[in-house]
Amino acid sequence: MRYHIWTEGCQMNEADSLKLAAGLAKLGWEEAAKAEEADLAVVNTCVVRQKAEDRAAGYMGHLRKLKEMRGGFQIAVMGCLVGPRTDDLRRRFPYVDVWARPQNFEVVLRHLMPESDLGGEFWPETFPEASGPTAFVPVIHGCNKFCTYCIVPYRRGRERSRTIEDIAREVAAACANGVREVTLLGQTVEAYGKDLAPNGNGRRPDLGDLFRTVHDTPGLARIRFLTSYPRDMTERIIRAVAELPKVCEHFNVPLQAGDNEVLARMRRGYTIEEYREWVYRIRDIVPPASMSTDVIVGFCGETEAQFLNTLGVLEELRFDKVHVAAYSPRPGTIAWRHLEDDVPQAEKMRRFHAVEELQEQIAIDLNARLLGSTQEVLVEGSKEDDAGETVYTGRNRGNKLVHFRVEEGTWKKEDWCPPSPGIGELVQVEVTRTTAWSLQGRLAAAVPA
Ligand code: SF4
Repeated sequence: MRYHIWTEGCQMNEADSLKLAAGLAKLGWEEAAKAEEADLAVVNTCVVRQKAEDRAAGYMGHLRKLKEMRGGFQIAVMGCLVGPRTDDLRRRFPYVDVWARPQNFEVVLRHLMPESDLGGEFWPETFPEASGPTAFVPVIHGCNKFCTYCIVPYRRGRERSRTIEDIAREVAAACANGVREVTLLGQTVEAYGKDLAPNGNGRRPDLGDLFRTVHDTPGLARIRFLTSYPRDMTERIIRAVAELPKVCEHFNVPLQAGDNEVLARMRRGYTIEEYREWVYRIRDIVPPASMSTDVIVGFCGETEAQFLNTLGVLEELRFDKVHVAAYSPRPGTIAWRHLEDDVPQAEKMRRFHAVEELQEQIAIDLNARLLGSTQEVLVEGSKEDDAGETVYTGRNRGNKLVHFRVEEGTWKKEDWCPPSPGIGELVQVEVTRTTAWSLQGRLAAAVPA
């Protein structure tokens, strides 16, 4: 039997899809490259933006046609489209065989193999064969914050941390399968541990403790973490990033808006002054830290002056990367119920492009400062360019994309530098060219494992 998984949305969904694939493999199913060749198609959905939801609905329509042509073909839908009640969904999509809420991929497995024992030892050692040197590991599920525009707490539930032991087992299994870099995931990752029982010293474990626990996992070279929520950050966690060599100095701290009135309407729980203070604290404690952020433009009632405040904050704080989105109301959220979506679409797009233009210039400037520097890069892939020369790709510690070549004679053989770096190796790259989107360079040396 063969399965195909279609995944939309965030890294949480990607991690869930990999877990489901591992479970299916354990039950003897094989992966198919497309739904047309599979007996089961799984749609792992995202509804954070309307476009993502539309894409999922469009793909489900395509699967419906396949099902009409082929007997025995099954469709499973999981992810954030699936709330606690599925009556409406079952009416809208009667051809779907099984619905599973986010992280509840076991529901799919139980539907396929009701007789199988999926408890006990089924999951702990289940980790997909590494398809690359990096892996996402969810450490806390759900979110308690209820920002007015966001559907996540309704679909993924309240914050629930996994135990440190469970996470450590998963990281060890991933590394045993060839993973070198793990990204510890949570919607608000610094909330990790707040719901766990205090440990021996009477303190609840936090993200810093988790870093320390997984830090020396054999084979592990790097630890990343996503996504930060300003009010959950603590100096203890930031200091752990500074102190632990395998924890990469990269913070993704969503700003969302640079104006206090808009932040209050979004119910983000902080002021721009508090946010700014956290950014300065991070940069003070972890001086090489690179930072990215998320911004929503055109939120309900956002005036031109308020939008200009957001641009001003971006100009002042100069992030390495900005993920910008034009606001689209999500049914069921507080904003959808109580606030008017009154910024015209054309105006939202104008603001969207204004952020993109500003950020492009900032990224050009920040990346240009790295010209001539040497960056540690984890090799994630390679391909041949038009001239038949191999170009390697990876990321530096600050999560910037790096493309590099191996130029004969430009690296020192006595540094035992391999002539063709393997996927998953750490190497040093000398930066010879930069753009807003990436760094380019040549291999300088390998980093001892
Ligand atoms: Fe959504 Fe706010 Fe939670 Fe982020 S912090 S997942 S935006 S509710």
